Amino acid sequence: MSSQVLARKYRPRKFSEMVGQAHVVQALGNALSQGRLHHAYLFTGTRGIGKTTVSRILAKSLNCTGPDGTGGITADPCGVCTSCTEIDADRSLDYVELDAASNRGIDEVRDLIERATYKPATGRFKVFMIDEAHQLTKDAFNALLKTLEEPPEHLKFVLATTDPEKMLPTVLSRCLQFNLRPMAPDTVREHLRAVLVAEHVAFDEGALRLLGRAARGSMRDALSLADQAIAYGAGTLRDEAVRQMLGAVDRARAASLVQALAARDAKAMLAEVDALREHGASASGVLEELALLLQRMAVAQTVPEALDASDADDADAASLATALAADEVQLLYSMALHGRAELSLMSDEYAALSMVLLRFLAFPSEAAVPVRPELKPRDNRPPAAQALRAPAPPALAVPAPPVLAVPAPTPAVSRVPAAPLANVPAAAVAPDSADPALGERWFEIVKALDQRGAIAAMARELACSAGLVGVDDSRTPPVWRLRVASDTLRADAHRDRLQAALVQHLGLPLRLELEPGEPGDTVARRDAAEKARRQAAAEALIQADPVVQALVGEFKTARLVPGSIRPA
Ligand SMILES: [Zn+2]
Repeated sequence: MSSQVLARKYRPRKFSEMVGQAHVVQALGNALSQGRLHHAYLFTGTRGIGKTTVSRILAKSLNCTGPDGTGGITADPCGVCTSCTEIDADRSLDYVELDAASNRGIDEVRDLIERATYKPATGRFKVFMIDEAHQLTKDAFNALLKTLEEPPEHLKFVLATTDPEKMLPTVLSRCLQFNLRPMAPDTVREHLRAVLVAEHVAFDEGALRLLGRAARGSMRDALSLADQAIAYGAGTLRDEAVRQMLGAVDRARAASLVQALAARDAKAMLAEVDALREHGASASGVLEELALLLQRMAVAQTVPEALDASDADDADAASLATALAADEVQLLYSMALHGRAELSLMSDEYAALSMVLLRFLAFPSEAAVPVRPELKPRDNRPPAAQALRAPAPPALAVPAPPVLAVPAPTPAVSRVPAAPLANVPAAAVAPDSADPALGERWFEIVKALDQRGAIAAMARELACSAGLVGVDDSRTPPVWRLRVASDTLRADAHRDRLQAALVQHLGLPLRLELEPGEPGDTVARRDAAEKARRQAAAEALIQADPVVQALVGEFKTARLVPGSIRPA
């Protein structure tokens, strides 16, 4: 049996067959049945979660003509018309998938855009799907942008990405976005059960549970693993065989490890590690099983009623829950998770595994952990969690790079630029600022210094955080008074660097005086206000989008995710 048989056979061909993505299915289904179409869709989510599948169903929905050839756009594609069968069989001329992971350049995108000018071959729409869209080069994105902005009537775009953070905001703002969620292990398990029953494959509950977890939220992975496990187990799915195939660790062995650690018995713990090595378990599998057990132990300690009484694993967790204190469970969990990253750094992963576990024993048991008095007023975490920070190396004080006083060919400016200036953004001017024009003057100067790279590190920080509260021209040299809240920033060294940069930039002698206090109007605040203003404008634009309005109006739970809108 090929390892792709089940994954392909049970790939959803209709929205109603998609498992665990009800929120996306409902929103798309309603939009389709009401004919509310967007010209670009973005599906986000981890790999193997259904982004391509939902894209194909969408393409069929848009192009389906029904069994009798008279159907229109539908949320329930028939699966038998020419469009549906061609898309299902991967031979539709109207549905094109481009994998940006391997075709990321401008040439591929130009080719795609050229194809966009032709009318659909059989369907109503051409649907271009760009998978892993965040991998397109910047040039490719820019080439795509114009078509994305004003696509021909017959063209729909579907972008899919595992990493929306890397997409250009200008692209994001043109797409209707749907987030596909990783499936819970229970959801995966139930779906697997239905598939195995339909396939007449005998299985153990334990095997299902292992596969449900190993799939990490991806139904595609769950079905591929099930295929492999069936081949491995000669037609059946048995707990022991699946465990061996996955390199997974028996829960009882993880429980023995926890017992040894709780008893602070290093010898027993090392013996258990040796036994696991003998057994052929992967070190990473050991830490994973340990973390899973600890998670159930934490649940048993805090919400015991949430455990499944019929589940043997949960019963183990409940009986172990008294062996360690709650904060020790947290500490060990954290070490098990982070320890996995260390395993590959050592040639012998089992040596690395024993170090991770010995580290837990290096911490005194809960009762003996001294609470460092200076942490007490601010640190309410349990003692073991505080102990976590004890072995961390001290934060290094990175010295600010010195600003070199290289004379730049700056034209001598005899006068500070007059305020207000046309392009100065609106900003809240604090009432304690004696002269609002000073704030604008300071903003202009600092921005000019910054653009020229004339200030860096702490001097720049000082310039941005300070408010100019007075200029006394009657003194020689003139004195500029800056108000700064931070003691650190008022250090002479930072002041001298900023002063030197100002003298050079303005071509005027001046002396900076720093005074403590709340500065009111600062460059940093003006920048923040400008950012907020642009954000609000972008959000207003999205709120006004008719498609968004329809979605929000229709679904009680639909809302714009704060922070997901970014100004272009
Ligand atoms: Zn159809």
